[in-house]
Amino acid sequence: KPILEAVGLGKRYGKQAALQGVGFEVYAGEIISVLGPSGCGKSTLLQLIAGLAQPDEGELRMRGAVIANASRSVPPEKRGMNMVFQDYALWPHMSVFDNIAYGLRRQKKAEAVIRSDIAELVRLLHLQGLEDRLPPQLSGGQQQRVAIARALATKPDLLLLDEPLSNLDMRLRIEMRAEMAYLFRRLGTTVFHVTHDPDEAFSMADRIIIMRAGGIDQIDTPQACYRRP
Ligand code: ADP
Ligand code: ADP
Repeated sequence: KPILEAVGLGKRYGKQAALQGVGFEVYAGEIISVLGPSGCGKSTLLQLIAGLAQPDEGELRMRGAVIANASRSVPPEKRGMNMVFQDYALWPHMSVFDNIAYGLRRQKKAEAVIRSDIAELVRLLHLQGLEDRLPPQLSGGQQQRVAIARALATKPDLLLLDEPLSNLDMRLRIEMRAEMAYLFRRLGTTVFHVTHDPDEAFSMADRIIIMRAGGIDQIDTPQACYRRP
């Protein structure tokens, strides 16, 4: 049974159809990358999944339960999803530790549990020794590692990544693609990743959704997408 399911999703802005007839399934532990040129509807699709916009047509389901259609939309914080943004979006006046701890504290987890969970994430994301720093005192790559740690801390059913490496330089992008894919597979995280960078999609994904003009052009493994002209 899929974690996330989209059926006939459509979204228009005025007369302009941003998405039309979009359907797919995401299974537990998969890394799915959505790839396509600017304007093809990637951000719109991600907004519908995150609960930041509502579809005009079709349906989204999490573990079989409807989370969005034209007449209802479960609020973002009740979807069991966390998101990592292109610009990190960390709280600049909170330490690295407090940024990562934010969701766990909202869940009223015991401080001892929070400390041990965060120690593990800090280790996995190579952030040792940076726990007391403020985000502006970190490099771009370090800030994105903190954002990933923060998003993983509450063990979401689905992790949403919105162009996560676009603000990093080429060398760091290549390094972090491999590092993130390794980490998500090791933790068994289900990931829905949106990018315009083919290298990012092809190096990280188990399956790629290739979009064109508001619709899905192809859904397949990187190997099969590569073979298809
Ligand atoms: P992508 O993320 O792939 O660049 P978008 O989802 O942002 O694509 O956009 C898909 C289409 O919907 C584009 O034609 C875009 O101009 C249009 N669109 C997106 N957001 C809005 C909006 N808030 N108002 C009007 N049109 C929009
Ligand atoms: P193949 O390319 O191996 O002949 P298909 O791509 O036709 O196989 O179908 C494999 C699965 O991938 C289908 O069950 C379908 O859900 C999905 N899929 C492939 N391409 C698309 C597409 N353009 N739109 C929607 N789903 C697709």
